[in-house]
Amino acid sequence: MGKNKELIIGSRARLFDLILEDSQYMFSFDTSDGIIEGQIVSKDGINYSETLGLSDPCNFDDIIGRTIASKKLKVAYALDSSVKKITREGLIKAYKAGKRRLEIKICIAKSEDKRYNRLVMYLDKDKESGHIICYVLCQDITAVEEQWLRENATAQGLINDTDQVLSCAGVGIWYISLLKGEKPKMIANAKMYELMGIKDTVMTEEEVYDFWFGRIKKSALPSVLMSVTEMARKGMSENTYIWNHPELGERYVRCGGTAERIKGKGYIFRGYHSDVTDIKKNDLKQKQMLADALEETRKQKELLQEALDNYKQADYDRRRDFLTGLRNRQDMFEMLNDSLSDVRSNISAMFMMDIDNFKKLNDHYGHTMGDECLKKIGAALNEFAEANNMYFYRYGGEEVLGIAVNEHEGMDERADRLVKLIYDLNIKREDSEYGRLTVSLGYTTDTSDLDKMIDKADAAMYRAKTNGKNQAVSYERRDLYNEKLV
Ligand code: GH3
Ligand code: MG
Ligand code: MG
Repeated sequence: MGKNKELIIGSRARLFDLILEDSQYMFSFDTSDGIIEGQIVSKDGINYSETLGLSDPCNFDDIIGRTIASKKLKVAYALDSSVKKITREGLIKAYKAGKRRLEIKICIAKSEDKRYNRLVMYLDKDKESGHIICYVLCQDITAVEEQWLRENATAQGLINDTDQVLSCAGVGIWYISLLKGEKPKMIANAKMYELMGIKDTVMTEEEVYDFWFGRIKKSALPSVLMSVTEMARKGMSENTYIWNHPELGERYVRCGGTAERIKGKGYIFRGYHSDVTDIKKNDLKQKQMLADALEETRKQKELLQEALDNYKQADYDRRRDFLTGLRNRQDMFEMLNDSLSDVRSNISAMFMMDIDNFKKLNDHYGHTMGDECLKKIGAALNEFAEANNMYFYRYGGEEVLGIAVNEHEGMDERADRLVKLIYDLNIKREDSEYGRLTVSLGYTTDTSDLDKMIDKADAAMYRAKTNGKNQAVSYERRDLYNEKLV
């Protein structure tokens, strides 16, 4: 027995003790001079080594190593992921890692004849020699395996079909595993690779994950993490985010998926992925168009408002006297000739006001001073108009026509108040007997003939002048005043 050989394939005697009911073949090996040799025999003792194309007796490397190298023996898949390669070192390592039983499927291919075997390996330590011994049970599962392969091929076909359909729709499929103690991995189908612009097919699954994750736009990262959390919590989520394609630049991608919890280890996410840049761009285009239209409307509204303001101002200016700010004669004529005018329809009194001895004021103080007086009077009358529902028009140079609407009562008192209003302005005049600027006012409350009202007010105003100025005279009672004064 070779000193350096740690692994010994167990003796036939011990192996038979471990035969399982469904085992059909067994390996049985003896050791001599460091070469591990054995035979493959059936339960009933028939030697199958030759049948399987192996020398008799065959050694471990014959079965395991050389056949793998010549691709005659394939590990279809290992049921225990700790055994990736069946080598002597691999089995010793597994024993040291605490493995005592391993289950492995292999495919032994001799020309066209494929046999599938399930190997159950028991690892043990020989107490005397201290060598690790491997007992192997072998079961021919060719029929089972072929059935499985058939089913798998059908399933594989279906997957390929789905993949093809989704690929045509521009959908990529991915798997991401986030497991404890493992680097995140991303497995993607061909379409997904295409969507991600990956042409380097030698990238590892870890590298693919890093590539995908590293290209998520920073501002979109919170929403991506949020939907990952949502997948883990609710099992399903969908999200649209910006992803930086290596050639096309920033793209909008829509991504949805489900999460499967691997207890105590983490999650596996499965999902789809599609480039929705055009949809998103159209969204943005439409949004922009809407914003532009709104902006245009806002501008037009502003222009319209400006035009309206300008018109209002122009109309106001057109109707106002430049010096006094009172309504002008044109406005007065328009009102009097407009049968629909609210003012004309509701006149209750007309007042004609004329500044007393204004010529003298101009002579004495100059025209500029005269203009200033007219301005002050205009401002005072405009204020009075607002508070008393009245309209004042600059009728002549220093003559003002006042019109009261709606109210019929208290016109005598209003006439007196108007005279007093000017008196109270207290515009100093040395030449006046009152020591200040005054007005004379005539008025009429007889609305039976509108056309005659101005003349009547004017006549009453002259009566006020002749009566001594700084007073109001009612046309209807002008004679009474005369009498009174006489
Ligand atoms: P009376 O008391 O009789 O009314 O005497 P009066 O001097 O005021 O006489 P009248 O009403 O006829 O005089 C009008 C004067 O008003 C003539 C003119 O000098 C003056 N006047 C008219 N318009 C203006 C104006 O826009 N500015 C100035 N400064 N004076 C004006
Ligand atoms: Mg006058
Ligand atoms: Mg005058």
